Amino acid sequence: MLVKEFDWFNDWWGQIDSLRVRPWMAVLLVAPPGLQVDLFARELVASRLCQSPEPNASACGTCPSCAWVMQGQHPDMRWLRPDAEAEDEESGSEEEGSSETKKPSKEVRIDQVRGLLGFSQISSHRGAERLALIGPIQTLNQAASNALLKGLEEPAPGMRFVLYGAGLRGVPSTIISRCRRLTLSAPSALVMSHREAASEVDPWLLPLLASGRVDVVRWAERAEKVNPALVLSTLQLWLLDLSRVMNGLPAAIFPAQSASLASQAGQIGPSRLARVTEAQTELQQLVGRAGHPLNPKLFFETIFGTFSRAYDTRN
Ligand SMILES: [Zn+2]
Repeated sequence: MLVKEFDWFNDWWGQIDSLRVRPWMAVLLVAPPGLQVDLFARELVASRLCQSPEPNASACGTCPSCAWVMQGQHPDMRWLRPDAEAEDEESGSEEEGSSETKKPSKEVRIDQVRGLLGFSQISSHRGAERLALIGPIQTLNQAASNALLKGLEEPAPGMRFVLYGAGLRGVPSTIISRCRRLTLSAPSALVMSHREAASEVDPWLLPLLASGRVDVVRWAERAEKVNPALVLSTLQLWLLDLSRVMNGLPAAIFPAQSASLASQAGQIGPSRLARVTEAQTELQQLVGRAGHPLNPKLFFETIFGTFSRAYDTRN
């Protein structure tokens, strides 16, 4: 793997094992939001270009090809994503004098797809395959989707497409039907740690979550004596389920709270799905600090404050 710190990538690698058995031309990876499916999709691309893959066929992460992929400079790979995401990564999400320049696009545009189709016509660097990494799939505007469809219908020899996203709402069925769709589940480590947590945390936390009214200070007082990791896993899974419901999927972890999740999804509104995803990502970043917080109450206030951003309906 190119990236080692996301331990669920190994899980997911097992879940896409079928790709090793049956040949494919286009794959669509759908995963719960906030779990870096874009970087996982890149793992699949890297594995095809890697010069010395691991025994499980994943990329080694150390050969020159893998280094090129990580730098985004492999000659046989193109990554189509919104400019806003690419710039975030390059600048470390710092804004440096960007106030006067045009706002980076939040969509994948048709000229990006046209560039890709041109790239797919030229022969590959190593005479082997070329790969296109495209996503999040919901960010392709209509014109870009139409152009991509042509590429999927008449792929150039040796061309492969890896599409990714957190859901399928708004994605043309013509695109979906031309891809092998693989749905990646919430990381089993997270689900396992929640199972351990369930008896200690769920009886008091689930009713609070279902209420939909986050009270950071009171919840932090209630949680103070509990292991933060257990609370974090419950909150993360709650947001995963919430985003599933917002994407029109059934709740996977908390089916008994489906009604609450649906009503919260309705209140938040589909246009704010990115906010739920961000909150989930930020909770994941707190996991590393959950071992021995110096001030548990303060740490819980950070946790619930982060969680509450998913429900922030201000613009
Ligand atoms: Zn490699």
